[in-house]
Amino acid sequence: MKPTIDTLRQFCLELLGLTATMAGVVVIATFTYFGSFASPVAQGSLAFCLLLLFATALPMQIYAVTRIVRLRGENRRLFEFATRDGLTQVLNRTAFKRSAEMAIARMSQRRASDLEPATLLILDADHFKRINDRLGHHTGDEALTLIAETLRRSVRKDDLVGRLGGEEFAVLLRNAGYEEGRIVAERLRTAINRLEVGPRERRTRLSVSLGGISFRSAVAFNALYKIADANLYKAKEGGRNRTALTQLGALAQTRATIAAAPEAGARSAPKRLPVA
Ligand code: GH3
Ligand code: MG
Ligand code: MG
Repeated sequence: MKPTIDTLRQFCLELLGLTATMAGVVVIATFTYFGSFASPVAQGSLAFCLLLLFATALPMQIYAVTRIVRLRGENRRLFEFATRDGLTQVLNRTAFKRSAEMAIARMSQRRASDLEPATLLILDADHFKRINDRLGHHTGDEALTLIAETLRRSVRKDDLVGRLGGEEFAVLLRNAGYEEGRIVAERLRTAINRLEVGPRERRTRLSVSLGGISFRSAVAFNALYKIADANLYKAKEGGRNRTALTQLGALAQTRATIAAAPEAGARSAPKRLPVA
């Protein structure tokens, strides 16, 4: 997702066009008033009017461009503010979902021969409540920030990293199928498992469980989330600090897999929000 106001060049061209239109109006008005440009008075008047127009338009244009440059900066800051998670600075839930949907929609525009796979990973910090209870909320926040930084550092620049809420994160790996998705998921898991928080005498190692789904065709984000979430539940059930990843196959199989997956959030319904 990019900010929509990125049109400085277009704005400058519009200003020039407006000035040219006003100059045209001046020429027509002078011609209509004097009947022709034959007389020196008509020529002098036209020259004076045009000079006056350009002399007054220039400072106005400089002012307008200065203001628009400043507004563009403010717009960028507001855009960051609206799309980033305040604590971890990765994408917030809404922005992640929207960006993922846009990336998935682009997949549907590709020809079958150019299809690139993608993998959606959902990560949930293990026994995070204990970290808060033992080490305090502040250390919990530090742990979330460390996890987010590790995720951002460990994936490619055009992959998406977001915080879905609480201690749950999501990653969309572009151009990564099942095999690569598994390798990356394990890399993320082990990198996070190397992190420690808390004072020296109560140093605590972090871990996450990951659920994921690799896919090749454009499938609704909510359906992918549902399957990834069901896999996350399996990873938790399997003992935590592990990865459960599956891949979507042919369309008929995909439909069956989506239908069979429990509703996202069902594993811990009271604590989790549905995807907006
Ligand atoms: P599990 O391994 O099953 O995921 O256990 P868990 O303890 O991680 O899961 P649970 O859902 O019981 O607890 C999640 C905790 O995450 C509880 C909540 O206080 C904490 N949490 C959610 N958001 C934040 C946050 O922004 N900062 C901090 N410090 N804690 C948070
Ligand atoms: Mg959770
Ligand atoms: Mg958790």
